[in-house]
Amino acid sequence: MKLTDIGTIKDVMERHGLAFQKKYGQNFLISESVPQKTAQAALDNCGSGARTRAALEIGPGIGTLTCELCRRFDRVCAVEIDSSLLPALGETLTEFDNFEIINSDVLKVKLDNLVSEKFGDADVAVCANLPYYITTPILMYLLESGVRFTNITVMVQREVADRLCAKAGSAEYGAITASIAYRGKVEKLFGVPAGCFYPAPKVDSAVVRITLYDEPAVKAANEALLFDVIKAAFAQRRKTLVNALSAGLPNVNKELVTRVLTDCNIDEKIRGEKLDIGSFARISDGIFNAM
Ligand code: SAM
Repeated sequence: MKLTDIGTIKDVMERHGLAFQKKYGQNFLISESVPQKTAQAALDNCGSGARTRAALEIGPGIGTLTCELCRRFDRVCAVEIDSSLLPALGETLTEFDNFEIINSDVLKVKLDNLVSEKFGDADVAVCANLPYYITTPILMYLLESGVRFTNITVMVQREVADRLCAKAGSAEYGAITASIAYRGKVEKLFGVPAGCFYPAPKVDSAVVRITLYDEPAVKAANEALLFDVIKAAFAQRRKTLVNALSAGLPNVNKELVTRVLTDCNIDEKIRGEKLDIGSFARISDGIFNAM
């Protein structure tokens, strides 16, 4: 069955009484090469092959990317919110015995339990064509889950991809850029035009891969504080860093921030978007030691 064929998609959906659920961001892939390249990119950075390799997919839809994952990984587990898709997946993935589906909102799944239960000590990659209405919450949920994924290879809106890969000081650089830079190396792998989906969305997309560090490249003494510092710095973009941090962090006043910035050799008039993750870590450590 060729799942990237519009005729096949319509046929599967009709036979199973399905309609595209806009509220779940259902735009299915109709390009043959995009799911192949996406699954391969996830596999390429998922361990050496000495251990079992497993993929966690979010939102399999009717299984287009899932098939490519099942062909490459030893085990695949997919989390799908829309229960009406499950009978269709039973049909489209019938040739694979290394696949399991969980019917849930991914944001409600305890990821550490799921990964240890389904994959044991395998090397695990996340691979998905993400529903665009909750891209950032899903990425943050994955990164804050504490699970040691090898990489997160995902399709996102092109603007989000640019934001994730942005350099400090550029207009696209934001709290999510700095937070992700702490956890791993981000690469934009390739662009995907809107015409590669059915129905076609209004925006173009891109596949990005976040290859997670075993240990962060810069280590903050208190990670929770680091993320609070990053959020506070970007919460009020028009304020200088001293004002933004003293307004956004409890028990931190202007004097303390000014002292920490001086110690770190950072201009107190600077704005958050100019700071790379190394600078954020130094500021966070300075505040942590002074409190
Ligand atoms: N993987 C398929 C493909 O590439 O053709 C479908 C991708 S479609 C953009 C997004 C998928 O995510 C849909 O199947 C949708 O039902 C599912 N989804 C949306 N919100 C979800 C959530 N909170 N948890 C799990 N799956 C979700």
